[in-house]
Amino acid sequence: MLGPGRGMSLPSKKTQVVVIGAGISGLSTAYRLSRAGLDVLVLESADRAGGVVMTERSEGFLVDLGPTSMLETSPKIRAFIDEIGLGDQRLYGNEQAQRRYILRGGRLRALPMSPQAFLTTDAFSLRAKLRLLAEPFIKPAPPDREETIAEFVKRRLGQEFLDYAINPFVAGVYAGDPKQLSVRSAVRKVYELELKYGSLIKGQIKGARERKRRGTGDKSKAKLFSFQEGMGHLPRALAEKLGDRVVTGAALASLTPEASGGFSCRYQHHEKLQSLTANAMVFAIPAHAAAPFLEGLQSDIGPQLKSIPYARVAVVFLGFSKPISCRPLDGFGFLVPEVEQRRILGTIWSSTLFPRRAPQGGAALTTFVGGMRQPELAELPEEALVSLVQEELSDIMSLRSTPDFVRVKKWAQAIPQYEVGHSDKVAQLERLEDAHPGLFISGNFRAGVSAADCVLNSEGVADRVLVHLVSRKSEGRGS
Ligand SMILES: Cc1cc2nc3c(=O)[nH]c(=O)nc-3n(C[C@H](O)[C@H](O)[C@H](O)COP(=O)(O)OP(=O)(O)OC[C@H]3O[C@@H](n4cnc5c(N)ncnc54)[C@H](O)[C@@H]3O)c2cc1C
Repeated sequence: MLGPGRGMSLPSKKTQVVVIGAGISGLSTAYRLSRAGLDVLVLESADRAGGVVMTERSEGFLVDLGPTSMLETSPKIRAFIDEIGLGDQRLYGNEQAQRRYILRGGRLRALPMSPQAFLTTDAFSLRAKLRLLAEPFIKPAPPDREETIAEFVKRRLGQEFLDYAINPFVAGVYAGDPKQLSVRSAVRKVYELELKYGSLIKGQIKGARERKRRGTGDKSKAKLFSFQEGMGHLPRALAEKLGDRVVTGAALASLTPEASGGFSCRYQHHEKLQSLTANAMVFAIPAHAAAPFLEGLQSDIGPQLKSIPYARVAVVFLGFSKPISCRPLDGFGFLVPEVEQRRILGTIWSSTLFPRRAPQGGAALTTFVGGMRQPELAELPEEALVSLVQEELSDIMSLRSTPDFVRVKKWAQAIPQYEVGHSDKVAQLERLEDAHPGLFISGNFRAGVSAADCVLNSEGVADRVLVHLVSRKSEGRGS
């Protein structure tokens, strides 16, 4: 456990910044603020820091039950990992794991990694390949119409590309449904290619030329990484750096703005109700968890936050301590398009991706079930989930071995869905922050669901907090 245990006294003085939630978003923000010399306190309702990042080591297996890797989408990610002292623990994904498969017609087919490979791949029909040639000539959508990812992709690239490339991709990132997600909010960079260049293909080509001129890298080629001891090492390292500034088992109970600026809050720490005041409050908890507190500041914000859906996901880890009998595990794993009508979203071949995920000579497979596609499956009892996954893997990848280690984690509210109308909700949050200086709302429902987005966004949040506190000080209203 991190932070003061039962009976230990908690800071009673006014704290400069209180961060609610010790997931990656809250911890990264708190770390940056603490490094800038601020007095920070993180309140976390669970008995451990990390939120949905959760790693266990057991019987020679390393089990990531939340995110299994993250992407180095910016040099800032690498610098952050180095700065917190995890550089020598970082593990880049195995070269072989660049190969990714999709299921088509019941068979795994490698996704093309280059334009040349695209011409010869059997993952897409000739008709779909020819359809792509029309893409540069398709007019952009009217700017006043917010499209779903499915509408956007069908219009620009055709049905087959939607079914066999984008549908599984959206399942892999959001556990989501492209018919509900907003192209503008969920895949903003793709949306902006149409806006800026009028075409995705033209955008790719011109973007590559511009990047070459500027000497910057292609973010779509970002390197995938984790740590020797799994993704859980990241929140653990941040929490260790923050020390007793992270209080676990401490759930926010109420929030009241103060007349002089700042906030007072109460929180339940084990059985005791504690209170404190702060010049700035950073919310880094899920939208539905933030709703009861923020609607106290503005009544219509609660329903807006509660209306952000979260995908239900079950993670099923199968461990094999002896050589496994199945097709070659020669890649990252595979994703399952909805049209294939299977009962899993996809499987990561974890022991191919990173070393030491299974005992020497063994294997580890991490499978995702449910999502917005089949939420009811993610609620099945654990034994039923394991059987279901074994049956599916037997069909899809000829799995004949029986696992000698299994672990299941059911996330009732795993990943927020940026559906059509999401940007209006975010704009409302911005107005709420403007109306309450010192209030900052972050977390993965605001500016990107990936772990990398959470780390990158924490920089902007921390900067805004600093600017607020400096202006407060210059107005003579507290430190
Ligand atoms: C199964 C799964 C697989 C994923 N795979 C990947 C992946 O491979 N790569 C990737 O980049 N991303 C992945 N993601 C997404 C990414 O991991 C998350 O978006 C990110 O970790 C969320 O961090 P967060 O801090 O915003 O929120 P959370 O992790 O949800 O943290 C919020 C914290 O707030 C706490 N809290 C809630 N209410 C209160 C309260 N009242 N008072 C105090 N504390 C409170 C919670 O206990 C929690 O610890 C995955 C997510 C899941 C669920």
